[in-house]
Amino acid sequence: SHVLVCGGTGCTSSGSEHIVSALEAEIKQAGLAEEVKVIKTGCFGLCALGPIMIIYPEGAFYSRVKAEDIPEIVSEHLIKGRIVTRLLYDETVHKDGIQSLNETQFYKKQHRVALKNCGVIDPENINEYIAYDGYQALGKVLTEMTPDDVIQLIKDSGLRGRGGAGFPTGLKWSFAKASENDQKYVACNADEGDPGAFMDRSVLEGDPHVLIEAMAIAGYAIGANQGFVYVRAEYPIAVKRLQIAINQAKEIGLLGKNILGTGFDFDLDIRLGAGAFVCGEETALMTSIEGHRGEPRPRPPFPAVKGLFGKPSVLNNVETYANIPQIILKGADWFRSMGTEKSAGTKVFAVGGKIHNTGLVEVPMGTTLREIVEEIGGGIPNGKKFKAAQTGGPSGGCIPASHLDIEIDYDNLISIGSMMGSGGLIVMDEDTCMVDIAKFFLEFTVDESCGKCAPCRIGTKRLYEILDRITKGKGEMEDIQRLKDLSQFIKENSLCGLGQTAPNPVLSTLHFFEDEYIAHIKDKK
Ligand code: SF4
Repeated sequence: SHVLVCGGTGCTSSGSEHIVSALEAEIKQAGLAEEVKVIKTGCFGLCALGPIMIIYPEGAFYSRVKAEDIPEIVSEHLIKGRIVTRLLYDETVHKDGIQSLNETQFYKKQHRVALKNCGVIDPENINEYIAYDGYQALGKVLTEMTPDDVIQLIKDSGLRGRGGAGFPTGLKWSFAKASENDQKYVACNADEGDPGAFMDRSVLEGDPHVLIEAMAIAGYAIGANQGFVYVRAEYPIAVKRLQIAINQAKEIGLLGKNILGTGFDFDLDIRLGAGAFVCGEETALMTSIEGHRGEPRPRPPFPAVKGLFGKPSVLNNVETYANIPQIILKGADWFRSMGTEKSAGTKVFAVGGKIHNTGLVEVPMGTTLREIVEEIGGGIPNGKKFKAAQTGGPSGGCIPASHLDIEIDYDNLISIGSMMGSGGLIVMDEDTCMVDIAKFFLEFTVDESCGKCAPCRIGTKRLYEILDRITKGKGEMEDIQRLKDLSQFIKENSLCGLGQTAPNPVLSTLHFFEDEYIAHIKDKK
């Protein structure tokens, strides 16, 4: 038997480490150590049901497993072959036996590309990654394709940056390739600062080799032989697994000098960030990697011309890279067969807030918000009504119930005043005060503003103060126009993306829920 236990941060925080040690001890005691393999995987996505365990060959999906359940799982399931029904995730229980996970409400409409190996392989074992076609794309690129072929393929695929802005990845690579320089860099943004977002962390924890492979491919495409992964230090499991993966790849010649005997050199290092939101902004991230205080710098020059250490550089986020090896192996048409015309492929969302199935969801672009909330997410708890969902975190906006049928892609979200962002999706029910939501995000940006430019440093503080007095019943009607004017000013005059997008939650809640602002002011509460 194979026992897969989720070792992602979500399940680790609900106790999966204890489950693994209890299981290993019990298996040893039962004399089954030779026959049963326990594998600590990355995230399965259904974080709300953690700790999660799957036992193969039966495919029994046990949820909310506790250390006290282990003796029964071993004696009943592993020894006698009898499934412990009381621990089964109820949606997998079927009158004819166990139903496949793919048939459950949560997984049925999902399509896992970036998360393909998460929850499937042992992230600390390179052989498991290789067994699932790992490093084949790198081999193909180095032996059969020119750098221009690679860039053309990525362009043809229509892949856009999953970190937020949705810039075409192939185009970005072509700019860096065209910048002549004997030293170039490839960087990965794994800073992931949006409250509620954990897509990138899950890829690093569950499938770190995919990032290494993709970054080496990017290095070959643009002519770089050094990469940096910028990860926040608050992601200890991700950092540990990525370092193990880098060491393993180096050991067998998939990183370092003369990769696969092709003469291509590529090395990769991790740089830890201290968790400042602004360090997710590309120029601040590069300044931080260079060893300076993580403050943004003006663009142009753009990183493709003058990036890390003043050299041409490419920066993509983890999820963007996680798509690359499969595009190389399966082709641009395959990738374009998923998603919408202008937003090809899938998107991973971290779904949280007032929803049953909180967790990680990967769906084709163009899936409606209703499908994510009502079907995959299992709806709103306690019979409450859906009020809005916030996408794009502190840079994004809310989507009200009237837009539940919007097909989510980059352009549709922007058309209603929100944005994709990195993929945080927070659901709010009828009891949520939308002014409080705007205030929550503003408080976050006030804290995280680096202070370099006045419109953001002072403007967000003033915005927050207005929101604060409105929520305390001390606002006046003129405050609504003040919020609008000040938001516009901050958007137009801030130096970097943090300030330029900080007013979005205010503008978006004002647009859809101005009546709630007015109610606070008129009712004086
Ligand atoms: Fe710093 Fe805000 Fe200015 Fe960006 S917009 S440079 S975060 S003060």
